[in-house]
Amino acid sequence: MTRALFRSPWKALLLALFVGFAFGIGQIGEPIENIMQAARFKLRSHPASGSIVLVAIDDRSVAEIGKVPWNGGQLAGLVQRLDAAGARRLHLDSDFAELGSPAQAAQLESALSNLRAELLLPARFSIDLVTGARSDHLPPARFARHARLVNTNLFVWWDGAVWQHPEGAIVGGRLLPSLGSVLGRSDQISTDLFHIDYAADVRSLTVVSASDILNGRIRPQLLAGKDVVVGRTDFGAEHHRVPGATHAPAILFHLAAAETLLSGRPVNLGWGLPLVLGLFLSAALLQLRRRWIAVTLLSAAAAAAIAGPIMLEEQQIHVQIIPAMAAIITAALIRLVASLRRSYQTRGTTNIVTGMPNLQALQRSQLNGGVVVAARVKNYAQITATLPPQQEKELVEQIVARLEFGAGGATTYQADQGVFVWVADNNMGDGVIQQLEGLQALFRSPIVIETRLIDLSITFGLDVDGSRPLAQRASSALVAADDAAREGKRWASFNPASVEDADWSMSLLARLDHAIDNDELWVAYQPKIDCRSGRVVGAEALVRWTHPEKGQVYPDQFIAAAEQGGRIERLTYFVLDNALASAARINGRRRRFSIAVNLSVLLLDSENLVPTVEALLARYNLAPQLLTLEVTETSTLASGAAQIANLERLSRMGVQLSIDDYGTGFSTLEYLKRIPASEIKIDRSFISMLNKSQSDRIMVNSTIQLAHSLGRKVVAEGVENEDILRELKRMRCDIVQGFHTGRPVPIAELIEQFGLNRPSRAA
Ligand code: C2E
Ligand code: CA
Ligand code: CA
Repeated sequence: MTRALFRSPWKALLLALFVGFAFGIGQIGEPIENIMQAARFKLRSHPASGSIVLVAIDDRSVAEIGKVPWNGGQLAGLVQRLDAAGARRLHLDSDFAELGSPAQAAQLESALSNLRAELLLPARFSIDLVTGARSDHLPPARFARHARLVNTNLFVWWDGAVWQHPEGAIVGGRLLPSLGSVLGRSDQISTDLFHIDYAADVRSLTVVSASDILNGRIRPQLLAGKDVVVGRTDFGAEHHRVPGATHAPAILFHLAAAETLLSGRPVNLGWGLPLVLGLFLSAALLQLRRRWIAVTLLSAAAAAAIAGPIMLEEQQIHVQIIPAMAAIITAALIRLVASLRRSYQTRGTTNIVTGMPNLQALQRSQLNGGVVVAARVKNYAQITATLPPQQEKELVEQIVARLEFGAGGATTYQADQGVFVWVADNNMGDGVIQQLEGLQALFRSPIVIETRLIDLSITFGLDVDGSRPLAQRASSALVAADDAAREGKRWASFNPASVEDADWSMSLLARLDHAIDNDELWVAYQPKIDCRSGRVVGAEALVRWTHPEKGQVYPDQFIAAAEQGGRIERLTYFVLDNALASAARINGRRRRFSIAVNLSVLLLDSENLVPTVEALLARYNLAPQLLTLEVTETSTLASGAAQIANLERLSRMGVQLSIDDYGTGFSTLEYLKRIPASEIKIDRSFISMLNKSQSDRIMVNSTIQLAHSLGRKVVAEGVENEDILRELKRMRCDIVQGFHTGRPVPIAELIEQFGLNRPSRAA
C-alpha cells in the first residue's frame, strides 16, 4: 500500500487532503495554532485607542476605602465623582450583592437616577457545572430602570485563556449586547463569537485607581468625554489568562474585546480556504521533478504561513492555517520518502560526477538481443583534465544528447570516463553501421561549452552476439572500440576469435623480444609508383615476423602489443636501420629512391627520436630528403605541442613527413596545415571501393584537390586493380601503392623486380 502511495501522486494528494481535514475538524493543531497566534499578537502589538478608561477597584482602593464588595454609599460616591468629571458613559461592574443599609442602597439609587452619563449595568447568566442548570443574574430593578443592560459573560477556553468574545447573549429572555460590543460601538448584535485581537496592548489602557478618584487625586480632564468602566482588579477579583501572557482581571477582557471592535469587525475565514490553497501547493510539490524548485516552494509556503496571517489580521481577518500546513507537510514527507527510496534503489547505478546511469543500470535494464554499441571519446581525459566538474557534466550531457539523437533515442549508459554504451535494437546490418556513420558526422562539429570549442574524437565498438549476458557484451563492445581507436578505424566489431587467441597475445611480448634477438623479424618493401611516369620512386618498409611454428605473423597482430608493452622503440629502430640500409644500397647506384617508415605516435614523445634518426642517416650516408616518416592521421590529431615540435625538428632536418591513413580521423585540411607534412596518404578503405562507391570517389577527389592547393603530394594506398589505378590517374593522384602495382616483398626481390640494381638515367 505504501509503495503504491509513493508512485501515484493522486493517492498521495488524497492522503494530504485527509490529514488536512482531520486537523481541521478535530482541531488537533489548536495548541500550535494558538502559540502562533499569540506570537503574532506580540509582533503586531500597538497601543489601545485611549477612548476607554478603567477605574480600578484595586488593592490600594480596598486598603484606603474598605473591603469589597463596596456598599451602596461607597459606590454612590464613586459614581457621582465620575459623572461630575464628565464621563460620557459609565459602566458599573458590580453584582449589587451587598449594598449595606437601606439608606446606603437608596443613596446609590438616587445617584444612578441623577446621572448625566449613560449608565450601563451588567447582566449575565451562569450554568451550574454539576447540574447544568442555568440561572440569569440581572441588576435589581430599581437600578436597572436607569440603565442600559449589557452582557458580561466571558468565554474561557480549555487552556484557561479568553480567545473569543460574544457579540451578545440572551439574558432574562432578551438579547443583550455584550459590554465589549457597546464600548466597541458595534451595532451588529447576535450571539456569535468573534476573535479578540490582543495586538491592542492591554497595558496601554488608561487605568485609574478608584481610591484616587474618591480622594480627589485625579484631574477631572482625564475622564471627560470618555467611556468609563468601573471594575475590580484587586487580588480577590475573578482572573483569566491572556493568550501568550499571564492572568488578568476579568474586566480587562471586556475592554480588549471593545478595543478589537473599535479597530474593525473581525471576520473568521476558518481553515477551509487555507486548506484548499495548501492542497494546490501539495499537488505542485508532488508533481515537481526538480528538488530545488520543491525546496523553494516549501520555503515560500513557510514564509506565507508566517506573513499571510499577520497581514490578514491587520485587516481583522482571521484564518486557521494548521490544517493547510499539515496537508503540505504530509505531501512534503511523502515526496521526501519517495526520493529517499528512489536514491536507495538507484544507489550504485549512477555516475557520481554526471548523474548518468552506469553499467550497473544497464545490467538491471534486462535488455536482450540487439547490438551493443560502445562509444569511446579518445581524448576525454585530456579534455576533462582542464574542466571544472560542472562543465564536465555539461560536456557529458551534450555528448549524450548527440549520441541519443544519432542512436534513435536509445538510452545511453556511461561506462567509464568518456565511454558510453547503448543497445541498438535493430539487428546487425546496414542499420547500425549507418547510425554510426551518422554519428561520426554529428561529432565532426565541435561541442561548445561556455565559449570553448571542444573537438571530440570518437570510435565505436560493436558486439553482435545477443546470446551472452549484457555486462559481458558491453565489455566486448568496449574492447572493440579500443581496437578501433588503436587501429585508427572509426568502428570495429568484437571478434570472438581474438579471445581464443588470448593465450598467444598474453605471451606475445616475450615472444617479440625473442623474435628481435633471433632474426625472426624482417622487413618487407612495397613499391611506391609515380602515376605519371609509371616508375618506382620509393618503397614503404613494412615489418614482418616469421614465427617458427605459427608461420607468418602480421603487424596488425603485434604492433599494438609492442606499443603497449614498451617494445615499439626497439622495433621501430630495427625497421629504420634495415630500411635506411636498403635505401643506401639502392641509392648507391646513383638513383633517387626514397624509403618510407611507419612511426608510432608513442615515438613522437621520445627525446631519442631526432638524434637516432640523425645518427642512422649519417651512418648510411643518406640525404634526409630520401627518408619519409609516416604518421597516422589519428595520432597527429591527438598530438600536443611537444609532439608537433618533434615533427618540426625532423622537418627542418629535411626528413619528409607523411600523414598516413588519411580519412579515418576527422581532421580538416585546415588542421593539417599545422603539421609540416609534405605528403598525404589516403587510407586504403577509401581506395579499395573507389570504382564502386560514389561517396568515396568524392572524398578522394576533393582530398587530392585540397592537398594540391596546400602544396602536398597525394599517395593512394591499397590500389588493387587497373580500374582503380586508371581512376586515380584521372584524378591526378601523384603516387600509388598497392597489391596491383606491387606486394610487400623482401628487398632483394624488390631490387630484382624493378631492376633497381641497374644505374638509372633519371637519377
Ligand atoms: P599501413 O601503414 O597502412 O601499411 C600498409 C598496409 O596495407 C600493409 O599491411 C600492406 O601490406 C597493406 N597493403 C598494401 N597494398 C595493399 C592492397 O592493395 N590491398 C590491401 N588490402 N592491403 C594492402 P601490413 O604490412 O600488414 O601492415 C599493417 C599495418 O601495420 C601498417 O599499415 C602499419 O600501420 C603497421 N606497421 C607495419 N610495419 C610497421 C612498422 O615497422 N612500424 C610501425 N609502427 N607500424 C608498422
Ligand atoms: Ca604506412
Ligand atoms: Ca596506411
